[in-house]
Amino acid sequence: MRQADIVISGGGMVGLSLGLALAQGGLRTVVVDAAPMAAQLDAAFDGRVSALAYATIRMYRALGVWEAMAPNAQPIREILVTDGAPARAASPFSLHFDAAEVGAPQLGAIVENRHIRAALQARAEGEPNLTLIAPAAVTGVTVEPGGVTAMLANGETVTAMLAVAADGRVSPLREAMGIKSIGWSYPQTGIVATVEHEKPHNGVAYEHFLPAGPFAILPMTGNRSSLVWTEKKDLAPALLALGEARFNDELANRFGAHLGAVKTAGPRWSYPLSFHIARDFVKPRFALAGDCAHGIHPIAGQGLNLGLKDAAALTEVLLDAARLGQDIGALDVLKRYERWRRFDSVALAAGTDALNRLFSNDNAPLRAIRDLGMGIVDSIGPARRFFMRHAGGDVGKLPKLMKGEAA
Ligand SMILES: Cc1cc2nc3c(=O)[nH]c(=O)nc-3n(C[C@H](O)[C@H](O)[C@H](O)COP(=O)(O)OP(=O)(O)OC[C@H]3O[C@@H](n4cnc5c(N)ncnc54)[C@H](O)[C@@H]3O)c2cc1C
Repeated sequence: MRQADIVISGGGMVGLSLGLALAQGGLRTVVVDAAPMAAQLDAAFDGRVSALAYATIRMYRALGVWEAMAPNAQPIREILVTDGAPARAASPFSLHFDAAEVGAPQLGAIVENRHIRAALQARAEGEPNLTLIAPAAVTGVTVEPGGVTAMLANGETVTAMLAVAADGRVSPLREAMGIKSIGWSYPQTGIVATVEHEKPHNGVAYEHFLPAGPFAILPMTGNRSSLVWTEKKDLAPALLALGEARFNDELANRFGAHLGAVKTAGPRWSYPLSFHIARDFVKPRFALAGDCAHGIHPIAGQGLNLGLKDAAALTEVLLDAARLGQDIGALDVLKRYERWRRFDSVALAAGTDALNRLFSNDNAPLRAIRDLGMGIVDSIGPARRFFMRHAGGDVGKLPKLMKGEAA
């Protein structure tokens, strides 16, 4: 049996970031993950990249993990959004965000998930207050008046003052603890692939709203981009099954000619897209963070940023409580975290859902309205800068870590 202040189920990008932040703040933390940690660094584990908002980069700097990630991070200098095919980029019905306009060197960065995981794991190894147990699934948590006990599949138990579930969208622990969530599946699949192109991308990220859903081209290091191609769920299997040459033809049709010849490099991945939000984020001695608490459409590339904001806010609430000698598992302490994070999460989740409904169709009146809206936003400087602050994560009450300060 191990003893700690906090036990976290899930050592993904959110769970491990949270574990590191709490441990650096002086709380003895155990992070348990069902998958072997080394396997999570394999290129075959997760083909995705993440668009990290500037606030997230500040948090990773404060935690001492950014330095290891930076050589593999591609700065996003501009974002170009079009309603329809890439050829509409030059039309008035497009949006153009430029870091230079807000005097910033970059709007964010694109990093392959495996590099984010590698930097987190390397930092976790040297952290004396952090214990990482993997592979070992958490099979259940019991709550007693003075603490919690987490049961692991390998027969071990961990007792702590508080248990946190950061075990992703499908969280049996969330269900077992009696927290219900509302949600639905989108009739869309996210096809993800790395693409090599002839010309440099110059740090420009593109998002084209096609009738089936957003088609995002995210700049990676070198002459490479990551493709997040949202396709109708029933058409996706046929696309995924195409031979290399046919797939590259379909890709070129949607990609546009601005980066020269394009071809996929490596495997294609597919992710079912869904939405959910937990009705409660906390119970006595139990809290949710990351995708376990909210799963949103990747249309705005904000899911991980949102989960890391949970991690930063929960760290701040718990460290403040510990400094005051309060019980970190007490419901009134955890409610401070819920009040801080739930409204923000609902607002972003609802916003991304509405964006997807508004743009993922070919309805002529809707197209006219959204084109007008894009034209207006693009022509008004303060509106453009508002959206840039949103993309950079600089909105709402920022936790200290996201301001680049110690929690
Ligand atoms: C196509 C696509 C593109 C995206 N692009 C972006 C983007 O550009 N920017 C962005 O911010 N977000 C993006 N997202 C969202 C982002 O990927 C997720 O929000 C993020 O991965 C959630 O991290 P997490 O740690 O909460 O959950 P997960 O990554 O799901 O991690 C959960 C962890 O829990 C472990 N686990 C599960 N069950 C147990 C158990 N019983 N016991 C112990 N451990 C367990 C798992 O092994 C896993 O390691 C995208 C999502 C998709 C689908």
